[in-house]
Amino acid sequence: MTNKPKAFIKTFGCQMNVNDSEYIIGQLVKVGYITTENIFKANLILLNTCCVRAKVEQKIFSLIGKIKKIKKSKPGVLLGICGCMAQKEKENIFERAPHVDFIFNPSQVNNLENIINDIIKYTSGKYISCENTPEFSLKQVPIKRGSKISAWIQIMRGCNNYCSYCVVPYTRGAEQSRGVSEILSEVNNLAQNKYKEMFLLGQNVNSYGNDLSPPVTFSKLLELLNNINGIERIRFTTSHPKDFSFDLIKIIKKCHKVCNHIHLPIQSGSSKILKMMNRKYDIDYYNNIIKEIRNNIDNIAITTDVMVGFPGETEDDFIATLNAFKEIEFDEAYTFIYSNRENAIASLLPEQVPLELKKERLWKLIDLQKEISAKINKKLEGEILEVLVDKKSKKHIENQFSGRTGTNKTVVFTGKQNLLGQLVKVKIVKSTAWTLYGELNK
Ligand code: SAM
Ligand code: SF4
Repeated sequence: MTNKPKAFIKTFGCQMNVNDSEYIIGQLVKVGYITTENIFKANLILLNTCCVRAKVEQKIFSLIGKIKKIKKSKPGVLLGICGCMAQKEKENIFERAPHVDFIFNPSQVNNLENIINDIIKYTSGKYISCENTPEFSLKQVPIKRGSKISAWIQIMRGCNNYCSYCVVPYTRGAEQSRGVSEILSEVNNLAQNKYKEMFLLGQNVNSYGNDLSPPVTFSKLLELLNNINGIERIRFTTSHPKDFSFDLIKIIKKCHKVCNHIHLPIQSGSSKILKMMNRKYDIDYYNNIIKEIRNNIDNIAITTDVMVGFPGETEDDFIATLNAFKEIEFDEAYTFIYSNRENAIASLLPEQVPLELKKERLWKLIDLQKEISAKINKKLEGEILEVLVDKKSKKHIENQFSGRTGTNKTVVFTGKQNLLGQLVKVKIVKSTAWTLYGELNK
């Protein structure tokens, strides 16, 4: 039995937040905490929040409310809020929930050790830390990674794009790239520790390095990472179509470790809506990128993000999105209902689409995408694909493992524990819209 204080961390939102939580845990461990999955046993409760959509934000406020009871029954328990909502709602959180002890914004994730030490010193007061650091570095910040096979690497933070619906530029600040040597050293280190897959993260990886001196392109970074021994796969997200570089196509083709998968959010199939979203491309431009990618790289998977019910979206605009989906045939799509966010200027637009209609459109689009994904996956039946085995299957069936293909498709098959972290060949025997099922090809 240990006397160390326990920390409970709940993470909401994107991969960036998941990776931030890995840094948070690393630093908490350094200052003497251990983690617990049981919120009732925690001495410190941290919510790493998201506010991209209103529904998640409501869920978080409701959880903050419930934690009040825990704090009442266990005085001394600290409650901290971090992540995007901590930045966006920094004034409101203490007003709505005075039992919150401290908040800090996403750019302070690498400073948690100091924040925790300060809180312990000033237990009676609130500690708010929402200052941006002048440069983005994660050097020597302790991290406790959730996987021993695949690692998230933040190559940049923030966003300069101000899509009219999005809060990220307000919560994560302006774009800042991490230096090339810092990234290379982290990846070298991971390779030495037998990590196989690097997942590079940024809101718009195509603009990586524009702010560095001298500037470096994202393609160059990929090329450098491709040369690191021990790494088997390199993935990245997200590419913004407006900055998509044709160099990237060449690099994916040339560098065998860079996976055959591009996540390229379309957001809408209507040029009118794309303009209102301030996406800075139209549907012809988007289609042209897809054509170039497919003309140059065989077996490339393309996935996307899309939104329905943006203010002013008419039936014709929605049909344009359906048509774009039919024409492009994405491997997979993350579909969202547009959600009004204060700060984001789209919330001021007059022609808001009623919720019922948004839901109707969402289901039509999900049904269409399901058909397309099922059709694409069906064609893979009978093929032998290379799979990086990364976990025991979720269904916990004896000897069932799952992994991902280079095109990021999940493959479930019967195997053995020693295959975890290995690249294996699997013959696909069955498929659904979301999963491939196969047999080890010995
Ligand atoms: N930077 C990435 C890009 O440019 O596509 C995506 C980051 S964003 C956090 C992830 C996805 O959330 C977006 O692609 C968009 O589809 C969705 N999203 C962002 N703001 C939204 C809003 N107000 N309502 C609904 N979905 C939203
Ligand atoms: Fe948000 Fe647009 Fe930036 Fe993506 S590119 S984070 S959608 S503002």
